[in-house]
Amino acid sequence: MQNTVRMRGINEHITCSLCAGYLIEATTITECLHTFCKSCIVKHLQSNNDCPTCNVVVHETQPLLNIRPDRTMQDIVYKLVPGLYKSEQKRREEFYLERGESDPSARPPPIDPLDSATEFSHTHFSRDDDLISLKFEPDSSVTDKDMLQDLSRKFMRCSSRVTVYHLKRFLLQKLCVPALYDLDLVCNGQTLHKDNTLKFIWISHWLKKDPPLVLSYRLKKSLG
Ligand SMILES: [Zn+2]
Ligand SMILES: [Zn+2]
Repeated sequence: MQNTVRMRGINEHITCSLCAGYLIEATTITECLHTFCKSCIVKHLQSNNDCPTCNVVVHETQPLLNIRPDRTMQDIVYKLVPGLYKSEQKRREEFYLERGESDPSARPPPIDPLDSATEFSHTHFSRDDDLISLKFEPDSSVTDKDMLQDLSRKFMRCSSRVTVYHLKRFLLQKLCVPALYDLDLVCNGQTLHKDNTLKFIWISHWLKKDPPLVLSYRLKKSLG
């Protein structure tokens, strides 16, 4: 099924490397932007002060100060994986049970509004959260295209609330952008600000055009 193929590519971006499950209460380290389940990263930072993925020091003494809930990422995960909340909860219980530990986060009842496959329908989305069809392509002016991997999946549909920041994070990983480089996202000739939502971009740059919304990416030297 096409959906299965598409999911395989994106899975690595929506899973937590600590528990190997889909992200739950996605929480991002502000220093390096790596994302984990909240309970997994909190547990890790109780006895470490580095990022489990890249080893950057999160904070010398109080690493919990430098993590933030990543609601948009969590929304993406729930939307891509119908029924996730319940199944993930069960899997995690077993995971911690096996290790003889209690699940570090005792959670309130499911809040996942899309927690059943029947609700995973476009009609449901469009009511409160429109999806926007996107196409990514390398900027034609890019001279150092060779430094970037090919994007296996150029088309996707995203919540209109997704921001440039999230798309850039996705692309940085997907394109294997080398360290010291960053990406600019460009729409209709305009470089986009990281806080712009897809809805904003659509309205301000694409209203008179047909879907998909084409975003081009361009490599640039990172300042930091
Ligand atoms: Zn986890
Ligand atoms: Zn990291």
